[in-house]
Amino acid sequence: MAGITAHEVTKSFGDTPVLDRVSVDIRDGEFLTLVGPSGCGKTTLLRIIAGLESQDSGDVAIGGVNVDTLRPKDRDVAMVFQSYALYPYMTVAQNVALPLTMRRMSFAQRLPLVGRFVPGSRQARAGIDADVAAVSEALGIKHLGGRRPAQLSGGQRQRVALARAMVRNPKAFLMDEPLSNLDAKLRVQARAEIAELHRKLGTTFVYVTHDQVEAMTMSDRVAVMLGGKLLQIGPPQQIYDSPATLEVARFVGTPEINLLPARVRDDNSLEIFGHRWFGFAEGAAAGEATIGIRPESWSIGGGHRALSLTGVVQHREMLGSETLVHVRVAEAAKPIIARVDPRTGAGFVIGASVTLSVESEHILIFDRDGKRLAV
Ligand code: ATP
Repeated sequence: MAGITAHEVTKSFGDTPVLDRVSVDIRDGEFLTLVGPSGCGKTTLLRIIAGLESQDSGDVAIGGVNVDTLRPKDRDVAMVFQSYALYPYMTVAQNVALPLTMRRMSFAQRLPLVGRFVPGSRQARAGIDADVAAVSEALGIKHLGGRRPAQLSGGQRQRVALARAMVRNPKAFLMDEPLSNLDAKLRVQARAEIAELHRKLGTTFVYVTHDQVEAMTMSDRVAVMLGGKLLQIGPPQQIYDSPATLEVARFVGTPEINLLPARVRDDNSLEIFGHRWFGFAEGAAAGEATIGIRPESWSIGGGHRALSLTGVVQHREMLGSETLVHVRVAEAAKPIIARVDPRTGAGFVIGASVTLSVESEHILIFDRDGKRLAV
């Protein structure tokens, strides 16, 4: 087991800057997810940690030891790829055993007579078979040992890839979008399984995804990346409730946070669409601003001491467990989306006039540069 530290890691491919002084301190045993839109550099950072790519500057340490000069196989981390990278002509059991057979072979080549087992001996094979059986059992793929990857479902292949990573008991697991080839239903199941596996093993997991739901549901902490920079790192709920910037606020949450142009005035009032509200921007610096309100923060109907806007219901999405009401407010560029209880949501018919209200603690205020203002 080991924590992983990346310090000021910078990387360009030719003229394209990909990582810009990224520092992250991943704790021993933690499940940390690097999340961000396609192209933000998360895979590159993971590959640098694994040693599959080298950084232009900055350092990486695993378990407190600098690994910059170590080859991937000497870093003692296991990587699980999106494609699973299984060998098609090998059986499931042979694929799972591969890290052990390769490792003992190479060890044997260097030091033929020293080691746990004499390579190729019955003893060595029995040791490997026992390890493969144990992880296959743990991941529920023991009965598939004789099949080839082509004879497996996507979910089973994903488990074989995990088993292969687990079998050599690495210091850390590095996973690059391991669920993206699964259908939506299997993905939900696999999410829970990977989180459970992490709890059981207690090993450091570094997980890359562009899917913010995966990031939010599985991780101890989430690191949000954008354009080669790490913008914010923290527990999922903290990232959701207290995004440091407008970009982070927009990236997490579905439907997206509602954003409205506003202005903080010198008298500490918050001006939205020509109306001024007091008690919402105390202490915030005056100037152009954007306010962000999560869909579930709205209530429909007036509220005590709440900021309210009036509009017309334009669309309604009934999702079973919740209803999304799209409200067109004359001055706003886009309809505002409110997430409401389906029992009340059914009452909001298209064309009806409604008042949306929100309490001050649910309003996030960002300055002109997108930085969140403390209020
Ligand atoms: P995705 O979710 O699409 O995999 P990502 O956030 O993981 O995206 P990276 O794969 O790290 O992003 O790629 C970041 C940028 O670096 C992209 O613009 C990509 O085109 C570029 N890039 C990645 N690998 C190489 C390479 N070997 N040579 C040149 N450019 C590369």
